[in-house]
Amino acid sequence: MGSEDLVCASCSGLVIEGRCPTCRASREYLRRNSPNLSPQLFLTILVIIMVLTALAVRHAS
Ligand SMILES: [Zn+2]
Repeated sequence: MGSEDLVCASCSGLVIEGRCPTCRASREYLRRNSPNLSPQLFLTILVIIMVLTALAVRHAS
Protein backbone atom coordinates (compact mmCIF):
# COMPACT_ATOMS: atom_id res chain seq x y z
CA MET A 1 0.00 0.00 0.00
CA GLY A 2 1.53 3.26 -1.10
CA SER A 3 0.62 6.61 0.36
CA GLU A 4 0.43 7.95 -3.21
CA ASP A 5 -2.79 6.04 -3.76
CA LEU A 6 -4.70 7.46 -0.83
CA VAL A 7 -7.95 9.13 -1.84
CA CYS A 8 -9.29 12.03 0.17
CA ALA A 9 -12.74 11.53 1.67
CA SER A 10 -13.27 15.27 1.62
CA CYS A 11 -12.73 16.10 -2.06
CA SER A 12 -12.39 12.61 -3.60
CA GLY A 13 -9.06 13.61 -5.10
CA LEU A 14 -5.68 12.06 -4.51
CA VAL A 15 -4.21 13.20 -1.24
CA ILE A 16 -0.85 13.90 -2.87
CA GLU A 17 -2.50 16.43 -5.18
CA GLY A 18 -3.49 18.56 -2.19
CA ARG A 19 -6.80 19.85 -3.52
CA CYS A 20 -8.31 20.70 -0.14
CA PRO A 21 -7.08 21.49 3.39
CA THR A 22 -7.59 17.88 4.42
CA CYS A 23 -5.39 16.70 1.56
CA ARG A 24 -2.71 19.21 2.33
CA ALA A 25 -2.65 18.38 6.03
CA SER A 26 -2.47 14.68 5.28
CA ARG A 27 0.20 15.15 2.66
CA GLU A 28 2.27 17.25 5.01
CA TYR A 29 1.95 14.61 7.69
CA LEU A 30 3.02 11.90 5.28
CA ARG A 31 5.97 13.93 4.15
CA ARG A 32 7.19 14.34 7.69
CA ASN A 33 6.61 10.80 8.84
CA SER A 34 6.97 8.44 5.91
CA PRO A 35 8.24 5.82 5.44
CA ASN A 36 8.06 4.92 9.12
CA LEU A 37 4.33 5.47 9.30
CA SER A 38 2.05 2.47 9.39
CA PRO A 39 -1.06 2.69 7.20
CA GLN A 40 -3.27 2.01 10.18
CA LEU A 41 -1.83 4.88 12.16
CA PHE A 42 -2.14 7.13 9.15
CA LEU A 43 -5.81 6.22 8.69
CA THR A 44 -6.47 6.99 12.34
CA ILE A 45 -4.87 10.39 12.00
CA LEU A 46 -6.66 11.01 8.71
CA VAL A 47 -10.01 10.36 10.37
CA ILE A 48 -9.14 12.83 13.12
CA ILE A 49 -8.19 15.45 10.54
CA MET A 50 -11.42 14.88 8.62
CA VAL A 51 -13.52 15.26 11.75
CA LEU A 52 -11.74 18.49 12.61
CA THR A 53 -12.26 19.73 9.06
CA ALA A 54 -15.95 18.87 9.18
CA LEU A 55 -16.32 20.74 12.45
CA ALA A 56 -14.49 23.75 11.05
CA VAL A 57 -16.73 23.83 7.98
CA ARG A 58 -19.82 23.55 10.14
CA HIS A 59 -18.69 26.47 12.28
CA ALA A 60 -17.76 28.56 9.26
CA SER A 61 -21.15 28.35 7.58
ZN1 LIG B 1 -9.08 16.53 -0.19
